[in-house]
Amino acid sequence: MSPARNEVTPEGTSAPIDLHTVTHGRLLELMSELGQPSFRAKQVEEWVWSKNAQSFDEMTNLPKALRDELAARCTLGGVEEVARQVSVDGSRKYLLRFPDGVSVECVGMPSRGRLAVCASTQAGCAMGCAFCATGAAGLTRSLTAAEIYEQVMHVRDDFNDRVTSVVLMGQGEPFMNYDATLGALRRLNSPDGAGIGARRLTVSTCGVIPQIMRFANEPEQFTLAVSLHSAVQRTRNALMPGVRKYSLVNLYSALGEYVNKTSRRPTYEYALIGGVNDTDSELQALCDFCEGTLAHVNLIQLNEVEGSRFHPSTEARAEDFVRRLARVGIEATIRNSRGADIDAACGQLKQRAARIS
Ligand code: SAH
Ligand code: SF4
Repeated sequence: MSPARNEVTPEGTSAPIDLHTVTHGRLLELMSELGQPSFRAKQVEEWVWSKNAQSFDEMTNLPKALRDELAARCTLGGVEEVARQVSVDGSRKYLLRFPDGVSVECVGMPSRGRLAVCASTQAGCAMGCAFCATGAAGLTRSLTAAEIYEQVMHVRDDFNDRVTSVVLMGQGEPFMNYDATLGALRRLNSPDGAGIGARRLTVSTCGVIPQIMRFANEPEQFTLAVSLHSAVQRTRNALMPGVRKYSLVNLYSALGEYVNKTSRRPTYEYALIGGVNDTDSELQALCDFCEGTLAHVNLIQLNEVEGSRFHPSTEARAEDFVRRLARVGIEATIRNSRGADIDAACGQLKQRAARIS
């Protein structure tokens, strides 16, 4: 067998090929270098993507010699679970570490035969939202498409069940990591990957307008959620300083264009913060912003972040919001915070793990 051409590092040593990042073309080349028929590339990809193999020994339809060659020359990336919390409602929150030591959170939420996963797109976040634990810590780095995908597969394998939907609402701003996010969505959607329907794959953005427009032009019917949190410019600037330059007026027209292009209904996320964005004038501004649009509003009670000056509103206030929005023809739901007892707000498990270690 001729030796495979590994990627060569500046020091002249061969770096292993990460099968989560290698292209199909390069894998075909590798198979040919190893004297293997081309269909082996497809088999390897199936183990890597659909079956989420953790070792080369699992790849039982490959000849033993090939498995050994692959083990010598390639890696499977791989995430390591460093902490988990299990909620009384069955949700499981994981802290996963990548080979370079960077860690992120993801959550699996089972309910009535479904399994929803919330995954991260970045370790940390640079947007600095005032109410968000992830924002407070800043950005460590963006994740690769494979790292976003692997979180979902980790949850799937842990529950030993099919994942029915994914929301990219963990740590990070997906639209500040657009290409990797889209790559992950496509792999999650692909029948050769996780095979999850595009409409069941949701991206949540704090409102990065140029990328909302780009997303509107993607051919797949992925779902969009926009974190609004206030329809009053001054309040929104204070809560979400990272998107100051994308004004509410421009966000409004961008979403109008998004709806025209896609005929899909965007969701607005609105975390109710007592005395900040739950006042009468804030509610009026929200009604004005939504009236006559296709939007659906998700009202979330703020998850309290330790040491934060913000507190959730009352349940009665959330119900007022639902009623008033209904009067202008806007459907709103009060979303239960799944796993509230396990600090399912983004960033919190990581903070706790850091305190423990
Ligand atoms: N960066 C993206 C996606 C990750 S944040 C975004 O901002 O949309 C996922 C959601 O959690 C967002 O709607 C965000 O505003 C919300 N969020 C952040 N901190 C929160 C908290 N303490 N309580 C409730 N929701 C929070
Ligand atoms: Fe980043 Fe989203 Fe948190 Fe804002 S809410 S800091 S955009 S993760």
